[in-house]
Amino acid sequence: MNPLESRLEYPLGETVAVPGHKLPIAPGVYWIRKSLPFALDHINLWLLRDEFDSRDGWTVIDCGIGSTQTREAWESVIANELDGLPIVRVLCTHTHPDHLGNAGWLCARFGAPLWMTLGEYTMGRLLQGALPGTDGPGIVEHYRAHGLTDREHIANLGQRTNYFPKLVPEMPFAFRRIQDGESIAIGGERWRVITGFGHSPEHAALYCAELGVLISGDMLLPRISTNVSVHALEPEGNPLTLFLDSIDRFTPLDENTLVLPSHGRPFRRLHERVRQLHDHHAARLDEVRALCRAPTSANDVMPVMFKRELDSHQMFFALGEALAHLHTLWYRHELTRQRGADGVYRFELA
Ligand SMILES: [Zn+2]
Repeated sequence: MNPLESRLEYPLGETVAVPGHKLPIAPGVYWIRKSLPFALDHINLWLLRDEFDSRDGWTVIDCGIGSTQTREAWESVIANELDGLPIVRVLCTHTHPDHLGNAGWLCARFGAPLWMTLGEYTMGRLLQGALPGTDGPGIVEHYRAHGLTDREHIANLGQRTNYFPKLVPEMPFAFRRIQDGESIAIGGERWRVITGFGHSPEHAALYCAELGVLISGDMLLPRISTNVSVHALEPEGNPLTLFLDSIDRFTPLDENTLVLPSHGRPFRRLHERVRQLHDHHAARLDEVRALCRAPTSANDVMPVMFKRELDSHQMFFALGEALAHLHTLWYRHELTRQRGADGVYRFELA
């Protein structure tokens, strides 16, 4: 456990949900863990006992990627863990495939509606199609403009295809929009939607004051910092500022709130975690300021911010995150931006 993590409190200790079985977390709230075939090797999903639309059953929060393996794991949950009751509603915190992948499949199977924010649902529908400009060649163009010259990375990025439809094979053709501040009744409790930005278009976290539980999705994770990247689809984006403003929306909640994150273990001390994330990014921004005494591209920032050797997949996220830090200072007018004769954007202290 790293020193920052040790300042958080893990009320369940080392206990984690066993794949295929639900673990009770709070009255009517259960934890399900599914494995992922990525470096981030698991995702947490939440099952909430519910009565919805005159049906007794379960509301599922997030679904896992749409793979055969995850669906087999779902089959065992459906057979053994739902007390013979149906899934009556699927709610996804955001559109990333590990959260949304099986939504279409579960909704069709149980005749259940999908609840999501408009930003997340529409982005998912968009990513299901062909996306010229944001696939391999589009990514290469975006990153070349930010200084990437490494031939191997460029060749690998050029091969990148839109992986989304493979991991999210289908989506319901209609959805129920949820919005910031909305109070949703689930299992006799009221859950308030708290939207967040910077990691994805319009992420929804859910807070139940009565239970003292926050389902934080990817917006508040105990061990890793949430990925915040400037992508080819929105090359002028300012996602880190959006993210830092968004996590402040959690600070009015009680410090003792039990936070249920999408990755890692349930934890308490959310104010401490919000502070840690601000400190982490403030330190990265200081590094960027120091570099920008001279004209600096995102590709120059990346090795300072990420000191280990990166493969092309990790580099894809690292360069996007380096650029997010530059853009934060650029939007604050602390940096100016020039495009050189080589077509590369460089930033310098104003
Ligand atoms: Zn995510």
